[in-house]
Amino acid sequence: MKNTNDHLSHWEKEVFFDPYELIVVGAGIVGLSAAIYYKQENPRSRVCVVDAAIFPKGASSRNAGFACFGSMTELLADIASNGIKESLALVQSRWQGLASLRSLVGDENMDYLNTGGYEIFLQKDKAIFHETIKHIKEINARLESIIGIPEVFKSIDQTFGMKNIAGIIFNSAEGQLHPGKMMKKLIQLCQKNEIDIHRGYTVKEYKSEKEEVSLCSTNNESLQAKKLLFATNGFSKNILPDLNVQPARNQVILTQPIPQLKLKGCFHYDQGYVYFRNVGQSLLIGGGRHWDIKKEETAEYGENDLIKNKLLKLVEENILPGLEIKIKDSWSGILGVGKEKSPIIKFIAPNVLLSIRMGGMGVAIGNGVGRQAAKLLSEI
Ligand SMILES: Cc1cc2nc3c(=O)[nH]c(=O)nc-3n(C[C@H](O)[C@H](O)[C@H](O)COP(=O)(O)OP(=O)(O)OC[C@H]3O[C@@H](n4cnc5c(N)ncnc54)[C@H](O)[C@@H]3O)c2cc1C
Repeated sequence: MKNTNDHLSHWEKEVFFDPYELIVVGAGIVGLSAAIYYKQENPRSRVCVVDAAIFPKGASSRNAGFACFGSMTELLADIASNGIKESLALVQSRWQGLASLRSLVGDENMDYLNTGGYEIFLQKDKAIFHETIKHIKEINARLESIIGIPEVFKSIDQTFGMKNIAGIIFNSAEGQLHPGKMMKKLIQLCQKNEIDIHRGYTVKEYKSEKEEVSLCSTNNESLQAKKLLFATNGFSKNILPDLNVQPARNQVILTQPIPQLKLKGCFHYDQGYVYFRNVGQSLLIGGGRHWDIKKEETAEYGENDLIKNKLLKLVEENILPGLEIKIKDSWSGILGVGKEKSPIIKFIAPNVLLSIRMGGMGVAIGNGVGRQAAKLLSEI
């Protein structure tokens, strides 16, 4: 990789392109959190975060804002495939990640509300509902030492005006937040800690040598640092093609305000593949990638009509039957997923760390993963 900074002024080289101690690639929840914790641990260090997008555009500012740690069916599916120990460790990392995020950002700065969460089962899934509620007592007992309350889950009769509901399981420890405000506060914390954020810098390649790492952008501008962190989640394969992380696109729809909207809180359906919540008096619904899984294995933003229509059908027939809805906004975001649900946190060179594959609950684990990355990087 050749030095491509010949065109820069002396001033630019001295201030913006002087080697850093740490460069973080990716200004999502993981990258910004890692930069903040690293700088707090190493106050004299020069730290910068680079991101391809001019405005925040990763999953961290495009998600649904569920502060969640897994519904009953998700936990049972995890236990069946990964065993109880690994599944509980994952719940613990989500719960601790949320606590750490709330303490860093502050509930009032991201509209965090402990609204509770609900898993809904339609009549066609009645058998699954009855099978699931058999395990509530056992799961509550397992979760008590992690969450700190004896009855996290319980079956309830309330249906919020929804139709064809076979049952609902309430989760008293879930909450919701405003992802845009969360990201704004994390950016402000970076600025307060004198961390540079360079946007519009798309990393094309990197080179790691013993004492130094070099980055080259698609504009052929190079940056140097002693240490490097990749927090590029669902986009990681563009730079590191051999990694075990797949991009997975998710669709989101937000309606215009609906005066008669009764539901408040976070709602999960179909093992967490579909999610909906209120945003004030509007309904946000998203997910459904399992309905067109191959097409959604992409890091390209875009709409999927098949999924959007199925989500809207669910709203019309089950969630808000008989109510007229108008779409206010719709967008997509990119997850980083893999066969295993746990994130990848590992060194790929003595001074290059990866913190990627946040799965569907990166709001919950992202801050904790960033903190862990900062600790590992401080130790080298
Ligand atoms: C639609 C949707 C809904 C979701 N809902 C929830 C939810 O309710 N609750 C929950 O806990 N989780 C949810 N998630 C998951 C959660 O949002 C993510 O797991 C989390 O935000 C990932 O954070 P991150 O920092 O790892 O990645 P990101 O926020 O995606 O950040 C990665 C950054 O890397 C940058 N980047 C990538 N490649 C390069 C490059 N070559 N050079 C420079 N920069 C680069 C990108 O621009 C991006 O800003 C949802 C995700 C989506 C998509």
